[in-house]
Amino acid sequence: MKTFPYLTLDRQPGQLQPADADALATSISGGTLGPADMGYEEARKVWNAAVDRRPALIARCLTTSDVQAAVRFAAAHRMLLSVRGGGHHIAGHAVAEGGLMIDLSAMRAVAIDTSARTARVGPGALLADFDRAAQAHGLATPLGINSTTGVAGLTLGGGFGWLTRRYGMTADNLVGATVVTADGALHAVSADVEPDLFWALRGGGGNFGVVTSFEFKLHAVGPEVYAGLVVYPFTQARQVLRAWRDFTAKAPDELAVWTVMRKAPPLPFLPASVHGTDVVIFALVYSGSVAEGERAAAPVLAFGDRVASALGPTPYAGFQTAFDPLLAPGGRNYWKSNNFAALSDWAIDQMVGSAAALPGPECEIFVAHLGGAMARVPPQATPFAGRDARYIMNVHGRWSDARDDERVRSWARQVFEAAAPHATGGGYVNFLTEDEAERTAASYGPNFARLQSIKQRYDPGNLFRMNLNIAPLAA
Ligand SMILES: Cc1cc2nc3c(=O)[nH]c(=O)nc-3n(C[C@H](O)[C@H](O)[C@H](O)COP(=O)(O)OP(=O)(O)OC[C@H]3O[C@@H](n4cnc5c(N)ncnc54)[C@H](O)[C@@H]3O)c2cc1C
Repeated sequence: MKTFPYLTLDRQPGQLQPADADALATSISGGTLGPADMGYEEARKVWNAAVDRRPALIARCLTTSDVQAAVRFAAAHRMLLSVRGGGHHIAGHAVAEGGLMIDLSAMRAVAIDTSARTARVGPGALLADFDRAAQAHGLATPLGINSTTGVAGLTLGGGFGWLTRRYGMTADNLVGATVVTADGALHAVSADVEPDLFWALRGGGGNFGVVTSFEFKLHAVGPEVYAGLVVYPFTQARQVLRAWRDFTAKAPDELAVWTVMRKAPPLPFLPASVHGTDVVIFALVYSGSVAEGERAAAPVLAFGDRVASALGPTPYAGFQTAFDPLLAPGGRNYWKSNNFAALSDWAIDQMVGSAAALPGPECEIFVAHLGGAMARVPPQATPFAGRDARYIMNVHGRWSDARDDERVRSWARQVFEAAAPHATGGGYVNFLTEDEAERTAASYGPNFARLQSIKQRYDPGNLFRMNLNIAPLAA
């Protein structure tokens, strides 16, 4: 009879007996997949194709009790455990070599309560699932800017996007959750019930258990918003970025203007002669009325001599998919990110210098415009400590040939190092790569010790370690 080789929590080799593997398979409604099964190759893939790991078994969970069975099984066998929401984390923590992967991707239901203005969201839901369901009622909560990202990982790490300046981070809008802890118990938590565990879920990552349902508050948004892109030639980068910095410092909360420096993609509104040339793109959303948005965003058209623009009334849920083609799954990716409380001329010059040497057509330097409601939440109110970050730069190294791995990664590291002297020194766990585990504590700043003591209470054996890990206090 065939045994299943696996890795323990300490990454030592183990063997599962066939009867144990069968018992797990029958206790999970969606069954399990092993390396020889059809569907295994697809199920083990994550967004970042540079991550290529082969779990020993994949538990295809459909219900909360499936999740409880899988957690208890991993704990009983001291099996390395990973949890997959949308599979988007750059570090690929959703999949562990030789581990048990709890695959939540089929638990995608979204239920909107229009009278309470809340949403109950399954742990496998993607941003598109949530946005579509909520926008059917003219409602939304702040999410990220790529619709194939998982709601689960985004929320557990903090989460920000176009609505964050107006309504805070994704985690700020979480009002309740159900979570399976390392002992297999189910906890329904909120600000009033097990408040420490609830607090830890609002930015502490997947360290505390498997969330099987999220409850969010919703806000009136759109369904049409004033949104779009304004494109400038890279030769004007210094001038337009300084104008953007000065403008965004005073922008109303309803307006978010992000920037990206990259080679121009073949967008229909860009002249063909511009495709593939270096450009500075401003992407913006005004979440109030369309008429006010047009007025508020007008200065973005006058930062310099623009190449083209495509601004106007746009369905919010549609704009949430605008960047999907540039960030599709299947590419090799490496990121480096810095938080900035303000952007000095010097920091802008560093970014522009780095963008002049993009190592490939898909590489880019992205800067999110934050502040507003996000900055008004005290840093200790949730684990996310970087409330002072008015701008977060994310260097997207993206390529397709493994022979370019080191070349692109080293460019991204250089961009990060070059800008670091003017950054806050903080970080954002949803953007940290696998080789940045040492930035975890700095990202949580004054909240790290509280997170460690909650980890000690709910996961003293560190079963949930495939993440930007917070070791239990005693460890
Ligand atoms: C293309 C792209 C665009 C992005 N844009 C933004 C953006 O605009 N704003 C932003 O804030 N972030 C953004 N991110 C980062 C994103 O927030 C993180 O990648 C996030 O972790 C994705 O969540 P996921 O569920 O898809 O990932 P996964 O890789 O499935 O999970 C991430 C982590 O959370 C854990 N986890 C997942 N589900 C659960 C659960 N139910 N219970 C417990 N632990 C769980 C996993 O084990 C893993 O450690 C983007 C990422 C990508 C790839």
